[in-house]
Amino acid sequence: MSALPPTAAAQVASMWEPAMRSALEEARLAVAANNHPFGAVLCDAEGKVLLAAQNTVVTDKDPTCHAETNLVRSACRTLDPKSMAQMTLVTSTEPCPMCSGAIYWAGIGRVVYACSGKKLGQISGEELDIPCGQVFSSGRLHSVEVEGPVLAAEAEEMHTRFWTSWSGEHFGDS
Ligand SMILES: [Zn+2]
Repeated sequence: MSALPPTAAAQVASMWEPAMRSALEEARLAVAANNHPFGAVLCDAEGKVLLAAQNTVVTDKDPTCHAETNLVRSACRTLDPKSMAQMTLVTSTEPCPMCSGAIYWAGIGRVVYACSGKKLGQISGEELDIPCGQVFSSGRLHSVEVEGPVLAAEAEEMHTRFWTSWSGEHFGDS
């Protein structure tokens, strides 16, 4: 998690807000498709959105189909592997340990999130309680910067609305 002073943190937040709005829209589309409320986008060094993905855990019957893992799969199939270090993955919720591993192995350079994993756990009652920064810092191949939260209130509201009425299974937390 970033420990930026308030002014710098505000600048980071405003820089990533447009991409985060796209990630939140992906999360809404996931819900509309009967999946869980998670979305993510991949941005280049200028912040331009290159790829988008959403959670497909329910429709694919696959608990590994979190938004970020879906996005990593798509990115590795379509983009130059050497460009990954310049990429930023912007996600509606802090990546779970599985997705953090996928992001690390793909070589992506930065993650920006809205709702924290801790907050998601409080809302949904389910979590793998390991911050993504802890997963990333355990790797020795390369570093992954973490920034957030950005637009946390919107993401938290979406989770509260969804999980309080959710009666399905709780597999797939990001
Ligand atoms: Zn995940």
